[in-house]
Order: sequence, then structure tokens, then C-alpha cells
Amino acid sequence: MSRSFLIYPDIFGGRIRAFFTGIVPGVDRKAVCGLLEIADDALFMPIQRHTADIIALTGKQAAAPAGADGVITGMGGVAIGVKTADCVPVLLAEEKTGAIGAVHAGWRGTAKGILAAAIEKMAALYGSRPADMKIAIGPSIGGCCYEVGMDVLREVRARCGGAGPGGADYFQIKGGKAYLDLAAANRLQALAAGVKAENIWLSGMCTFCHPELFNSYRRDTRNGKMMHAGHEGGGRQGGFIMKNKNTENKIRA
Ligand SMILES: [Zn+2]
Repeated sequence: MSRSFLIYPDIFGGRIRAFFTGIVPGVDRKAVCGLLEIADDALFMPIQRHTADIIALTGKQAAAPAGADGVITGMGGVAIGVKTADCVPVLLAEEKTGAIGAVHAGWRGTAKGILAAAIEKMAALYGSRPADMKIAIGPSIGGCCYEVGMDVLREVRARCGGAGPGGADYFQIKGGKAYLDLAAANRLQALAAGVKAENIWLSGMCTFCHPELFNSYRRDTRNGKMMHAGHEGGGRQGGFIMKNKNTENKIRA
């Protein structure tokens, strides 16, 4: 079996603990809690449904996960995370106010503007300024591999627009086929919401291209590994973020 694979984005300050996982440890709660040195009930992961819904966590709700595709909190010592397997895991932190966030953005969530929604909610609830936010965009299916229908491209473009100043192209048309780079699309969405380019970290890794490291829903489906139609049963990796408990901040839990 594969060895444990973790990516630590080097953009957050010392109060923040954040990482993306590979196939191992994936989204194994015990392993993730072990890495963060927290109890199981201090890890919250929402039930994901490709919405643009963001939950603001205000208590220990890990035992009763709710439906959402993004979570934000001002609490220290509580980890939040999302599951992905081609979709983009995005981790956010604004250390002046102490707010953190985790977002799952597939093409539907991207088209619905979930990252922009998370940024806006962090600003509205915690007073976090987008210009002070730091964002890590984890491994997802890249523009090298993610062929999409023109209808999908149209929906994402309706939200993300063209590749504006400071934004790399997030789609290509090659041989009449559309290829979408979800990480780049979400980077553009963050820039449009007021996040600074230098405060956005990208893993640059494609889940489809690295079968030894990552689950890929599309690759695994094509290979016939997953016979079921559902999205939930396949292998997942994740993105997790936590603010250390014993730190001062402006938010009262
Ligand atoms: Zn690829």
C-alpha cells in the first residue's frame, strides 16, 4: 500500500496548521486527527452536495455533520476539512481576525461561486478583509486532463469570466474540445473577490496525472474501479485546516 502523502502549503502563518492529503491517509478521520493531535469530535467535515452553501461553525458539531460544501469558523482547536477526488480543495485563513475556511469546489460549485461565497461570509461574519486572506488551492484535476462539455464550460465562464489581469487562462479549446482547469478558475474567483495574487498558493498538481498519489474520480470511473454511479463511495483525499487553540484573536467562539 502507498505511503502517507501530505502537502503542506507554505503560505499560512504559525498559528495555522493546514495540509492536503494523498490517497493515504485520504480522509481517514483517525489518521487526520492524529496528525493534528485532536480528538475525533474536534474534526468537522460537511456532507458535500456540490452546492455553494457555507456553514459557519460555532460549536462542536462534528458529531452531527450538516450538508454544505464549505465551512468557516473562528474557533481555535477545531479542524475543518473537505473531501475531494478531482474537485478542488481550498483552504482559507485570515490571521488578523483568526477566521479559517475549507471549501470543496467541483465545476458545479465553481460555477455557483462557492469560493467567493466563503470569502464574503468570512468578511460578513468575522470582519476578515479579503486583502488579508491567504488561500491554498490543493490538488485537483488539471487543464491537462479535464475535458468538459461546452455546457459546463459555459456555466463556469458565466461565473469566472475571462482571464483578467493577473489571472492565468483557466480553459482551453483544443480540437473542438474544452479543457477546464478548476484550480485556475478558483484562483481567478479569489482574485475577483479581492484576494491578493501573492496570497494565493497553488499546488499545481493534477489528480488525474498522479495515480500513485491521488484518487481521481474520473480516472477511477474510466478504469472501471468504481461500478456504482454514486460519488460518495470512491476513494477521496482531503484538505484540512485548524487554528491553534491557545492563540489570541478577536473572535469569541
Ligand atoms: Zn493531468
